Amino acid sequence: MTTPLPDYHNGSFWFDSLDDLTPPEISGPLPDQVDVAIIGAGFTGLWTAYYLKRNNPQLHVAIFEAVVVGFGASGRNGGWCMGIAEGITGMLAQPKLRASGLELLSAMQDTVDEVGRVCQAENIDCHYQKGGTLTVATREFSTAAMQAYVASLHQLGLTEEDYRWLSATESQARLNCATNHGAIYTSHCAAIHPARLVRGLADVVRGMGVAIYEGTPVLEIGDRCIDTTRGKVTTDVILRATEGYTDSIPSQKRQLMPLYSMMVATEPLPESLWEDIGLNQRETFGDGRRVVIYGQRTADNRFAFGGRAGYYFGSKRKAVIPPGDPALGQVEQTLRTLFPQLDGYAVSHRWGGLMGVPRHWRPSVSYDTQTGLGAAGGYTGEGVAASNLAGRILADLVSGVNSPLTDLAWVNDTARRWEPEPLRWLGARAIEFFGERADRSEIHNNRPSRFWGPLFDGLTR
Ligand SMILES: Cc1cc2nc3c(=O)[nH]c(=O)nc-3n(C[C@H](O)[C@H](O)[C@H](O)COP(=O)(O)OP(=O)(O)OC[C@H]3O[C@@H](n4cnc5c(N)ncnc54)[C@H](O)[C@@H]3O)c2cc1C
Repeated sequence: MTTPLPDYHNGSFWFDSLDDLTPPEISGPLPDQVDVAIIGAGFTGLWTAYYLKRNNPQLHVAIFEAVVVGFGASGRNGGWCMGIAEGITGMLAQPKLRASGLELLSAMQDTVDEVGRVCQAENIDCHYQKGGTLTVATREFSTAAMQAYVASLHQLGLTEEDYRWLSATESQARLNCATNHGAIYTSHCAAIHPARLVRGLADVVRGMGVAIYEGTPVLEIGDRCIDTTRGKVTTDVILRATEGYTDSIPSQKRQLMPLYSMMVATEPLPESLWEDIGLNQRETFGDGRRVVIYGQRTADNRFAFGGRAGYYFGSKRKAVIPPGDPALGQVEQTLRTLFPQLDGYAVSHRWGGLMGVPRHWRPSVSYDTQTGLGAAGGYTGEGVAASNLAGRILADLVSGVNSPLTDLAWVNDTARRWEPEPLRWLGARAIEFFGERADRSEIHNNRPSRFWGPLFDGLTR
């Protein structure tokens, strides 16, 4: 009997713009036994396989993927390969955690270059361009706090090369958006085409001898074995790389909260419009509001732009967000408010994707040598580069290598599980509601929201 093909298009512009989108490879029986079973063929699973095989070419590594390579967040994100990760800014602000935070920051900055190096060495054409990031002060009152933040980073030893303040004139020359009172610029970010990266990486690991079993959901993790819809596989090591979909495995429920982020892409825009808008180095951009927005200029001259966060009761997951979802209309409206120049130009794609959020809101990498169980993730929407670092750490942990990476603060920093419903839903809704209220009031009144800010910060710790 042949297994029916799952619906494998993830709805994104990125999948649509691939040269070819091959259906999942679900032919052939599963192996009875492997050395390492990785669950999930997104960036985390693939980077882990890549470094594991590089360190140990003889290992029999197999990846089991429910749908198709890159179906999850890795094939549908904003394409910011960024030199920072969730939680690091908070660590820098706390004297006791500062040294660990600085180590992580330095490792993340190196990671942006590492991704570029691997893409070059392995011929992965993912439109990698290290043009940096602009965090624009779209509200005038925020300039003082943003300048103070840059000064605080310099006090910690970071340089103007790492982070610098751009005056309104300098910032507008780089990005002509409706309100631009200055910006923080960091060079530590590359814009990429995420689906080209994830699928290119899959081709590379296949070439190294890693088997990827697509269309093969893992139903449960057992003692040195996994149960899949296509049979059981015994294995020495099981590595979970399932991020926003982790609840699909019953024993892993409430480890990561699945939160949606929404994106739109415009049609390709003419050069004359880009001469007005800027982003000549394909800098990625955002504006530091609580309900994060993020954008990039794609290699084919579109805006790919995202924002918002959404949670469904009971951690319900939707494989694909319908293009008519009202949240997508709000993201498009935010883009058009920032860039009135887009009047008359169409949005061609609308989609959403799942991020994984742990209870302590920062990534972790774990591996237990006794049970052979490991996991990496919890990037909270900032995993494009972080998954490379996490994959390198996990590969070192599994290989028994003590390296500077295995001393980083993410190692075995696993969060406790999320609260059961309805508490989880109430918390997620409160964050969404208060964050949006605070952003709206700040944009409208041009002054900091005094009440909502601290409350929002309190809820996300
Ligand atoms: C819309 C959006 C925009 C984003 N923008 C950015 C950005 O610009 N920069 C940034 O740094 N981060 C961004 N992120 C986050 C980033 O994309 C993720 O952190 C990263 O891709 C996570 O990679 P992953 O491999 O851990 O998870 P995923 O890519 O989600 O992969 C998990 C895989 O596991 C598979 N799977 C799940 N359960 C099972 C199972 N039981 N059996 C078998 N397979 C299973 C899934 O099908 C999936 O393919 C964004 C996320 C979203 C959703």
